Amino acid sequence: MTGTSDQTPPRRSECTLTHPCAANPELWFSEDAAGIAEAKAACGPCPSRVECAEEGEYEPHGVWGGRSPEDRAEVRRARVILREEMITMKINSMQGRGLSISAMAREVGLPRKTLADRLRKMTGLAA
Ligand code: SF4
Repeated sequence: MTGTSDQTPPRRSECTLTHPCAANPELWFSEDAAGIAEAKAACGPCPSRVECAEEGEYEPHGVWGGRSPEDRAEVRRARVILREEMITMKINSMQGRGLSISAMAREVGLPRKTLADRLRKMTGLAA
């Protein structure tokens, strides 16, 4: 279920385990900081926390798996930064091995032009 349109907590209808959000679903869609903090804290011991956080990753509203919409946005931003850092490390490694721009682009899954632009910014290399 989506959890946003009917204000139902994420896992309530899908699982027979007892979830803290089942007792007071409105709290998980609080707009105020105190309510959000309370919901996040109550998610702590929930047996579905990991799955719930994954399921609610792109939900615009509510606390899912102990994460508010702002927490989820921060996790996504951190993931993008990490991915970019990993691509940069991979590019540096491939440059050291003398791979062509086309080969590197294939390796990291970027269009050749995107990689060439990135290399120009990184090293001043002409593509
Ligand atoms: S992690 Fe939180 S929102 Fe998800 S099912 Fe458990 S109590 Fe509900």
